[in-house]
Amino acid sequence: MKIAILSRNRKLYSTARLVEAAEERGHEAMVLDVLRCYMDIASSKPEVHLNGESLENFDAIIPRIGASVTFYGTAVLRQFEMMGAFPLNESVAITRSRDKLRSLQLLSRKGIGLPNTGYAHDPGDIQDLIKMVGGAPLVIKLLEGTQGIGVVLAETRKAAESVIEAFMGLNANILIQEYIEEAGGADIRCLVIGDRVVAAMKRQAQPGEFRSNLHRGGSASLIKITPAERTTAVKAAKIMGLHVAGVDVLRSKRGPLVMEVNSSPGLRGIEEATGKDIASMIIEFIEKNAKPNKTRTRGRG
Ligand code: ADP
Ligand code: MG
Repeated sequence: MKIAILSRNRKLYSTARLVEAAEERGHEAMVLDVLRCYMDIASSKPEVHLNGESLENFDAIIPRIGASVTFYGTAVLRQFEMMGAFPLNESVAITRSRDKLRSLQLLSRKGIGLPNTGYAHDPGDIQDLIKMVGGAPLVIKLLEGTQGIGVVLAETRKAAESVIEAFMGLNANILIQEYIEEAGGADIRCLVIGDRVVAAMKRQAQPGEFRSNLHRGGSASLIKITPAERTTAVKAAKIMGLHVAGVDVLRSKRGPLVMEVNSSPGLRGIEEATGKDIASMIIEFIEKNAKPNKTRTRGRG
């Protein structure tokens, strides 16, 4: 097969591993810098070009689109979908998953366990909003943050009020969330491929920190997940429409709570923690599922 990996940098661990796994399994893999791809959109024959040449005949596309280039990156992916290539994750599903609020609404609709979460626009509603999610301590999150940046723990009601007020004053989109204290600064990353959790790791925040992101100094270790956690993760990925996803789960007194669903889960942490060859599993999934013109939306969404 001819596989394109949409990534800004071929040296990134995940990108390099995917190229390696594809080639090992006898495929041709090409890394395309998504910001250098340009498109002929309005013609009867949709095309993507790079350096003056038309990119054609890709069987599958692996999007590894960074959060800062979601808009442009998903447009390029959509174009490949229109050309009939099989996307590992579809453009609509990626767009969906990048908006925390929209994701939570979709998951909530299907009864997935979630931390109590509120959203408001007017500073006049802050007091009631805080009451709604159960009071302090609580977590305040920028809607489009990643890697733990823009996630704040407010220990008291007063602190919560001032932080929310400050964010609102800056016109930042934020959500307010119940703080799951019993998770103890840890969360579980479930790597879903298709309808299976193929690997899971526990991420533990460093002492004095509640955010377990590896980018924030969190450490990863192997963990055995419960059947309820497994089902929740698979269901969450399916609701988002993602074939491959990193589903982050908090262990709470009332069972597994989904915090977020990532459409481009990093491979380094999970491969190192579990010793599993996730990159090959992803290529294998593509081998089994990539058929031309199989995208559900074909660029329509
Ligand atoms: P990001 O997209 O920046 O990773 P997350 O929503 O995943 O944002 O939050 C970052 C980290 O903060 C999580 O991995 C988790 O450890 C911690 N965290 C986030 N929300 C909560 C919460 N409601 N209760 C407890 N810990 C949380
Ligand atoms: Mg996260």
